[in-house]
Amino acid sequence: MHAEIIAIGTELTTGAKLDTNSQWLSIELAAVGIPVLLHTTVADDMPAMLETLRAAVRRSDIVLISGGLGPTLDDLTRQLLADLAGVELVLHEPSLRHVREIFAKRKRVMPERNTIQAMFPAGSEPIENPHGTAPGIWFDLPRSDGSICRIAAMPGVPSEMKPMFRDRVLPRLPRSDKVIRRARVNCYGVGESACEEKLGDVTARGRDPEVGITVHEGTITLRIEAHGASQSECDGKIAKDKQLIRERLGALVFGEEDEQLENIVVRELNRCGKTVSIADEVTGGVPSCWLTAIGQSEQCFAGGLIVGHVSNLPQRLSSEHVENVFHDGSPTDSAARARWLAESTRERFGTDFALSIAGSLRMSGTGSDEIPRLYLAVADASGTEVEEHIPVADISFARNRAAKSALDILRLRLQK
Ligand code: AMP
Ligand code: MG
Repeated sequence: MHAEIIAIGTELTTGAKLDTNSQWLSIELAAVGIPVLLHTTVADDMPAMLETLRAAVRRSDIVLISGGLGPTLDDLTRQLLADLAGVELVLHEPSLRHVREIFAKRKRVMPERNTIQAMFPAGSEPIENPHGTAPGIWFDLPRSDGSICRIAAMPGVPSEMKPMFRDRVLPRLPRSDKVIRRARVNCYGVGESACEEKLGDVTARGRDPEVGITVHEGTITLRIEAHGASQSECDGKIAKDKQLIRERLGALVFGEEDEQLENIVVRELNRCGKTVSIADEVTGGVPSCWLTAIGQSEQCFAGGLIVGHVSNLPQRLSSEHVENVFHDGSPTDSAARARWLAESTRERFGTDFALSIAGSLRMSGTGSDEIPRLYLAVADASGTEVEEHIPVADISFARNRAAKSALDILRLRLQK
């Protein structure tokens, strides 16, 4: 048994609005063991809608539709269901009363057009909507092989669709004998394909659990999905896969679920009672900002210096202290400056560690073979380590990548 989801609305296919309903419904269905194989988004266009729904009914046991139940001429979902089943729309008096009551409550006259919201394809059932005028439509549609496709059409407005699904659609769906559980393992430090190579057969299609890879600003997320007869069976499969992933990826794995690099850095610093400061002439303070968002970071994050280009400092900042930090003997070469920034910041802030990000995200010259380069450094009592970092893509992406890479250097040092 599987489901598919159809989102209806020209505002979705034109890109004016994002289809968030299908995403939400898929998560809800997985939680009750019903896998979703297809999402389709279709404009308010009857031929396209008919083709989409006909194919969906043929291949899926459950079809959830959102959108197109309003009273206006572009709301075609009820007519779509009637056309597909080859039946007429008939008036459902209790639904008409409901629509009238809603207008009366709002002290408005019901436009004649709203009567359409009380019309249902013969053989279907209204689904009550306590949160709006448009009732949903439940339709058990017989298929040529004698089986039944269960269709639920719901309003597009998320605040109406969600309670309708939870309270009135979900209880009517066939019970799945399957349990689906998901987990995420987060990694940093290699590219997507290199990560997959290390994982070997773990990401093969058709494997159970299935493991998918997604990447966002350098953070690789391995998404494990296990199917089984019980929660404990799924948990067992997931635990085994997590173990396998950790064995194959080693220190590239930094966390699970919503954990980001900054969560791990704060946790590890606090665990060993250490502190960090950051000197940053590149990102405008991105890693500091991330750290301060984590609870208990005030115990380990001492602060730091966020600057534009070091050479401008004497004009832009009058503080003698800051001027001294960055000016007295400040080396011009970025790699050497990264080292110097980390060491002097660590000393001045009196922290166990200091991170620095030096260089520029923009090209400094006009030479075509010139690429921007950053240098990331970490300093502690045992010495200073400097890494070259080549920023890619647009400024905001590159800034976040640089911040993550800096935090990752510290994370690796802490986890050594
Ligand atoms: P409708 O039920 O088609 O009249 O949709 C009413 C409103 O609900 C639309 O204008 C959208 O703002 C919103 N909406 C419709 N479909 C979706 C969807 N798939 N995801 C998120 N919002 C939606
Ligand atoms: Mg619409």
